[in-house]
Amino acid sequence: MKVKYLIVGQGIAGTLLSYQLHKRRQSFFIVDKGLQKACSRAGSGLINPITGRRFTISWMFEDLLRKARNTYSELGQFLGTKILYEHPVLNVFYDNEQAGKWSEKLNDPRFAELVGKPSKIFNDKELLVDAVNTAQVNTSLQLDISNMLINYRSWLLENQKLKIGDFSLDDVSYTTDGYYSWADIEFEKIIFCGGAADSRLQHFQHLPFKLSKGQAFIAELAQKVPDFIIKGKAFVVPLKANGLYWIGAHNNWFFDDELPDPEAKEILAARLSGTLNTDFQFLEPRAGIRPATKDRRPLLGRHPKLTHLYIFNGLGTKGASWAPYWSEVMAEYLQMDDFEIPEEVNISRFNAS
Ligand SMILES: Cc1cc2nc3c(=O)[nH]c(=O)nc-3n(C[C@H](O)[C@H](O)[C@H](O)COP(=O)(O)OP(=O)(O)OC[C@H]3O[C@@H](n4cnc5c(N)ncnc54)[C@H](O)[C@@H]3O)c2cc1C
Repeated sequence: MKVKYLIVGQGIAGTLLSYQLHKRRQSFFIVDKGLQKACSRAGSGLINPITGRRFTISWMFEDLLRKARNTYSELGQFLGTKILYEHPVLNVFYDNEQAGKWSEKLNDPRFAELVGKPSKIFNDKELLVDAVNTAQVNTSLQLDISNMLINYRSWLLENQKLKIGDFSLDDVSYTTDGYYSWADIEFEKIIFCGGAADSRLQHFQHLPFKLSKGQAFIAELAQKVPDFIIKGKAFVVPLKANGLYWIGAHNNWFFDDELPDPEAKEILAARLSGTLNTDFQFLEPRAGIRPATKDRRPLLGRHPKLTHLYIFNGLGTKGASWAPYWSEVMAEYLQMDDFEIPEEVNISRFNAS
């Protein structure tokens, strides 16, 4: 089979980029060694405008939100399944200082608009352990990542666009008609969308990945939680598909593998008990290595010398929010000779001067 692009990896990055190429009628083929270890399978798919203890508005959030809403709705229709939900986040405050900080922030019109008008008031002191007050974010979205990846994978397989396998550049050869070949695929360009694994690629060693292991649990709660994502001492994310909850996240900067750490269960159980007054049972651990970068910006572009090698990566903690917007930029760049990737995300920012 002859295609223009060989994409390595079918996490959020490879999925969204290949979908953009498909929309542009560009031929591609994906190789992926399996989603079990993909970081994308561990995430909760939250797209939330306000982050951190200082309630900072996420970078470029209005543009990213618009693109995420349109792209995931369209991709869901393409796949014949719902993958995106409007889902308010309930921030729980444990002292008056935090609650006061939030009120202060509401004086900023941009912040107030992003937070939106409360859809309903929920302040159940019985259920919310030690809560002083709560505040809602009403513009947040939740992507059902597993549903998206699995359905997209089925579409790829039905259309002979995916091979399950471990890709290595050592197995690539150059053909006489200007194409490269790997297995039985001939292609012009390779785009690496391998998440954390790409930090080990020999030709992209100059890119400053800063990996971290994120861990969560799928849990059953004895008491049904109102239809909010609760951001307390733990994140409690209701999963629409099965009535279970995603409880996260424990972060580890020092790790030897992508397996769940033994202590993560205890840490997350303590955080959940500190958030909700209900019995619960942890059913299944989730862990993934987040492909973050030192400057917390994505990695898009072409290798400075080997002009058939490209990368779309660095989605870090924000894959669900960033992938729709930046995959479109990457697809435009691949298609148009004079298109320039913004400096802030272009891997050329790390070229030796
Ligand atoms: C606990 C946790 C919670 C998170 N919560 C959120 C959240 O709420 N919102 C949000 O936006 N983000 C969240 N994230 C971050 C988000 O999951 C990541 O940004 C995203 O998954 C990165 O996607 P990716 O496609 O770059 O990498 P991955 O999902 O890791 O995909 C890479 C794929 O490439 C394949 N691969 C790699 N190398 C090769 C090779 N040589 N040959 C073949 N295949 C290969 C892998 O098998 C894998 O399938 C969370 C992450 C974690 C761990």
